[in-house]
Amino acid sequence: MGNPAQLRDTFGRLHDNLRVSVTDRCNIRCYYCMPEHEVQFVPREEILTFEEIERFVRLAVSLGIRKVRVTGGEPLVRRNLHLLIRKLAAIPGLTDLALTTNGVLLREQAEPLYEAGLRRINIHLDTLDRNRFLRITRRDDFDRVLEGIETCRRLGYDPIKLNAVAVKDLTEPDVVPLARFGREKNIEIRFIEFMPLDAQGLWLRDKVLLADDIVQTISSEVCPLIEIPDRDPRAPATEYRYADGGGTVGFIASISKPFCLNCNRIRLTADGKLRYCLFAIEETDVKGLLRGAATEEEIARIIAEVVAAKWEGHEVNTARFVAPPRPMYAIGG
Ligand code: SAM
Ligand code: SF4
Repeated sequence: MGNPAQLRDTFGRLHDNLRVSVTDRCNIRCYYCMPEHEVQFVPREEILTFEEIERFVRLAVSLGIRKVRVTGGEPLVRRNLHLLIRKLAAIPGLTDLALTTNGVLLREQAEPLYEAGLRRINIHLDTLDRNRFLRITRRDDFDRVLEGIETCRRLGYDPIKLNAVAVKDLTEPDVVPLARFGREKNIEIRFIEFMPLDAQGLWLRDKVLLADDIVQTISSEVCPLIEIPDRDPRAPATEYRYADGGGTVGFIASISKPFCLNCNRIRLTADGKLRYCLFAIEETDVKGLLRGAATEEEIARIIAEVVAAKWEGHEVNTARFVAPPRPMYAIGG
């Protein structure tokens, strides 16, 4: 144990980034993620405890993981999340701890999370139009999300980033207002191309609002954007800066410009399955190991095996593509 080279896959990619889903539950119902009704959730007893997550993360850090992002489902619906954040923030060698949230509960929870050691936060906001927010999320929580963003700014979270899923024939009118909002508030907006991970099988290739088209729209209607070359080639987002110095915009172009060749991520689902890719069909159970008598060495070997089995990249752009059996909320975005 302790040899970071263990998390290098057969394509030479070093893995130092772990996404940890803490729940598959959510308080809203974004249509590109969850079904509207009768959502199938994992039974509570199948969800990893904070102690199990902490043990897994400590082990992963001993193998070279340096960055952890806590996600879900909606991570803030997991009771006392700040207690987990405190445990993770105290792990030596974990240099970067971040959270992705829909922001609905941030007004109440941003402060305890900050006190527990969280500084980096991504808040999901697709639109500044209340009606479209309702249409997309099937819940009327727009004001709460805006209040959550303001609470994080006031507390001094840094960086705060906004995630906006880009869907053709739906969110085009949001591109310019979101870009302006980001400039005004000095917050980076990241546009994420719609991926085939929705629960209802609604994804179609021509529903993806392409990153290049968004760059053009912002460049002509807000301010010219200039690509920042290779800022961090292993980060999923391609970053652009405004020509007038008014901040940056990120693009997660998973469909039009897959970044698999630089991927450094593995994922732990809320029910303790380890995945080498968002789009992977297979996953490996670690909950049984964490709850059984497995030693740290045995669990470390399984983590290394999952990384070693990683494919070259997702196949969304090929005829072979098969959507994973679990949608986004159940994997952890
Ligand atoms: N509930 C939190 C949230 O919404 O930020 C965390 C989990 S959510 C699954 C993580 C991210 O996945 C969100 O930022 C959301 O925008 C993105 N997402 C969900 N479904 C998606 C899809 N089908 N295509 C692209 N991004 C998606
Ligand atoms: Fe919930 Fe996030 Fe999925 Fe929206 S994207 S339904 S907020 S888990």
